[in-house]
Amino acid sequence: MPDLEIAAGLSFMAQFVTALVMTFLLLGFYRQYRKTYVYEWMYGWAAIAVSEVGIAGGRWAVTNLAVAPLHPFRLVPALVANVFAYLSVAWLVFGAYDLVRRRPVRLREAKWLLITAGALGALLTLPYTSAESTAAGRYLARFGVYGMLSSIAFAGVGIAIWRTRKRRDGVGLAVLSLALLAHGAQQFREGVVAVLALPSGVRPDMPLQWSFLDLLVHSLIGLGMIAALLEDEREAASIAADQVEHLAYHDAMTGLPNRPLFMDRLIIALAQANRANQKLAVLFLDLDRFKNINDSLGHTVGDTLLKSAAERVRRCVREGDTVARFGGDEFTLLIPRIEKVEDAAKIANKIIETLKIPFQVGGLDLFITTSIGVAIFPPDGSDPETLVRNADTAMYRAKDQGRDNYQLYAPDMNAQAAERLGLENELRRAVRQNEMLLHYQPILDAASGAVVGLEALIRWQHPERGLLPPAHFISIAEVSGLIVPIGEWVIRTACRQVRQWQKKLDFPFTIAVNLSARQFQHADLVSQIRSAVIDTGIDPSSLEVEITESSAMQNAENTLFKLRELKSLGIRIAMDDFGTGYSSLNYLKQFPIDTLKLDQSFVKDVMTDARDAAIVGAVISMSHRLGLKVVGEGVETPAQHEYLRREGCDFVQGYLFSHPKPPDEIEMLLRSRKGNLIER
Ligand code: C2E
Ligand code: MG
Ligand code: MG
Repeated sequence: MPDLEIAAGLSFMAQFVTALVMTFLLLGFYRQYRKTYVYEWMYGWAAIAVSEVGIAGGRWAVTNLAVAPLHPFRLVPALVANVFAYLSVAWLVFGAYDLVRRRPVRLREAKWLLITAGALGALLTLPYTSAESTAAGRYLARFGVYGMLSSIAFAGVGIAIWRTRKRRDGVGLAVLSLALLAHGAQQFREGVVAVLALPSGVRPDMPLQWSFLDLLVHSLIGLGMIAALLEDEREAASIAADQVEHLAYHDAMTGLPNRPLFMDRLIIALAQANRANQKLAVLFLDLDRFKNINDSLGHTVGDTLLKSAAERVRRCVREGDTVARFGGDEFTLLIPRIEKVEDAAKIANKIIETLKIPFQVGGLDLFITTSIGVAIFPPDGSDPETLVRNADTAMYRAKDQGRDNYQLYAPDMNAQAAERLGLENELRRAVRQNEMLLHYQPILDAASGAVVGLEALIRWQHPERGLLPPAHFISIAEVSGLIVPIGEWVIRTACRQVRQWQKKLDFPFTIAVNLSARQFQHADLVSQIRSAVIDTGIDPSSLEVEITESSAMQNAENTLFKLRELKSLGIRIAMDDFGTGYSSLNYLKQFPIDTLKLDQSFVKDVMTDARDAAIVGAVISMSHRLGLKVVGEGVETPAQHEYLRREGCDFVQGYLFSHPKPPDEIEMLLRSRKGNLIER
């Protein structure tokens, strides 16, 4: 055997072994890293190995058996070599696509490309089956066309990988892309050689040095792939580490820093502020009545709203400030450098105003307000915990002040917070131990003086502090949710009481109970009232529920729905304290209201303030046009009574006729006056 043949055989052998080694290496890597492009390249190398066997087999048949081109010993290896050569290019392209796009090639698309590539390989082996074909023609079909086509593929892949190289660091991708480009160039050269040889009809030689260069380039491609893979893996690991870190220190839903990160940054900012003798502000934000939105519209809407709210808050602050989600609908803000307290107040104001713009979520316009507490370093605390706690306390104060505002921390707030907490605990106990009682205040026909109704007003018989009016505890009961059991007790007790009186006293009257907003948001309200009415056996029309404008507005849709349900039970509805809230005429029209209770603040000044007098007159006539009855509240003087009566006010209620009194006193009063409280 000539030396040249041995060298050529060795070269093929080396190519084959390289391809085989790469196949197994990539298989191993794939098992370890599960990267689909590795898998695709593994197939590519396997195809190269098979193709090399085909080429070697064909050559061996030519030199050792000297068989004719059409002989199966030449045809079959040629077919195998060609089909797998094309397949290997297809797999290489898939892998590169996967690597560049970060998206595995889908089998359905891949299948057709593979079939096409394989068919092309088979088709271009066909010149073998024709006896007229020249060696140069066969060479062109097999190697020339392959060279041309694959050079395009290699160049494309090489360039694509070169481009991604800019986005990722490491040398693997560079080596890979350069090797691919070199290989492309080489293939192109082979294609050109094949074309140039065609006229002569003689198959061009494949000089040995080229085939060694081929081997070198192949090895570099393999090396590049492995390096790229390892670099990719390292990058993925560091991204994963970053993500883990991000997850640990950020809120998953809003992407904002979480409590630990906020506290961390606060510690650092405090140290800096301390050194530089600067002020720093911590803001504590709570969305008002967010729970209502969550409860009535669902968590998806709630989450979307939270996300948009977080985004808006973030846009209200500067680069170096931190907005964190503390949990639920609570956010905290760290403003590391402020000149004066007003700077923090300005930001608080800006946030309040920004969040007021309605949010569009799922086709709804959601209105939300915010309460913010502000604590300043150094006056309001020198450590992170104290600052946050004091900002929180100030936020509660903002809630107490009617929400939708901000409050600066003041030291006496802690005392108030402690008192509130104490009261809440006591209130819990009071509910269990029946310390609640109801007083009743008569509502009279303005003209005749006949008692037409009684309003139930709650009192707390506190063991140490005596009889407490609702102003002392209703808001705490609302915040703590205790208003729900308390409210249920009020409704039942009032219904039972009126039933007793209706049996004992021989004139008809209604009973009015006050409902707070929180009760309205409670799912069971209607069924609570229904069963109270059924259990006590009162006529539903002798029960009137009083609801204030502001509580009705809190969740107008839900309120409207529940009011309609109550209405359908036959229960009467009164709008309490009319004139102190939004006084929206629209709601007056929409809500199924029977009675309007004119707030006592108007009645109080009706004799001295011409404007109040005008308002009272106007509200009465407007109400009548809407078919509503009007109650004048807080009537204390005969003159006020007289004025209301003249203006056509239907009913009156006030100290002039009777203070709210315990049941037995009211009963005595009603008996002695035979149900009429106007002396003639
Ligand atoms: P409201 O429903 O507007 O009740 C009328 C309030 O005005 C009562 O105060 C009553 O004592 C007072 N009042 C009556 N006549 C006069 C008068 O001539 N002059 C003056 N200055 N005041 C008069 P009270 O009992 O302290 O109740 C205050 C508020 O507490 C009530 O306002 C009502 O909104 C709420 N409330 C009372 N009981 C309950 C209850 O059982 N549940 C709920 N959720 N709220 C209640
Ligand atoms: Mg009332
Ligand atoms: Mg009132």
